[in-house]
Amino acid sequence: MTFQRLAISAGNPRNGLLRQLPASELMLLHAHLQPASYAPDMPILSPGTRLQHCDFIEQGLISLMGRTGWDKRVEVGSVGREGMLGVGAALGIEHAGHYAVTQTACQAMRIDTGRLRELLPMLPNLHRLLLRHAHERMMEAMQLSACNASHSVERRLARWLLAAGERLYPAPIEITHARLGALLGVRRAGITVALHMLEGERAIRASRSQIELRDAARLEACACACHGLLRRTLQADHPPAEQSRPCEAAPLN
Ligand SMILES: [Zn+2]
Repeated sequence: MTFQRLAISAGNPRNGLLRQLPASELMLLHAHLQPASYAPDMPILSPGTRLQHCDFIEQGLISLMGRTGWDKRVEVGSVGREGMLGVGAALGIEHAGHYAVTQTACQAMRIDTGRLRELLPMLPNLHRLLLRHAHERMMEAMQLSACNASHSVERRLARWLLAAGERLYPAPIEITHARLGALLGVRRAGITVALHMLEGERAIRASRSQIELRDAARLEACACACHGLLRRTLQADHPPAEQSRPCEAAPLN
């Protein structure tokens, strides 16, 4: 990494956690970060994988998957540019307890887990943010468990697209019907039918491997309540003063 790249990244990080750090903590941390890239549909973690490093995601989307059978999995959480993959390491956890798979090409700033643990006593703001991030992933897993057990494919798909769109904005969502089916635990044909319904509502524009969100309000009307419920739950725990350097989330329409 060149000094110029380091200076630009340290001064204007794209990751939501890094953006909330005071300059002193950011500079201390940044000396130990290395850029990392992941291709789409790339497995990163499996249950039992040693958490050797943690990734502050700068771009892209990673699904956290739970196993529902010998070769079946369903999404129980996700991480984008607001968070970090491997946050369990900050809690002292040594091994992953779930699968993590990239849904899009991802860029991240990576840190060795051991080094992160050494630094955390000197990074109280980062420590607090990581604990909160871990709590948020837990709340997300609870909400998605309720969602997967209760809501229709169409409404779950709309909910997934809303969450993915917020994390990837302004880029379209690059994903196939088959991968969407694997995430939601349904057959590809069911995804195709649900996408046609959302297109009929003029909420999205879909091709074989790309989905563009046309109208967030229409999409939200098609979705189950879970996305909004989770957002309100998490916002209730975030006093406005703590949202000083938000991630680059923006409205979809
Ligand atoms: Zn739901």
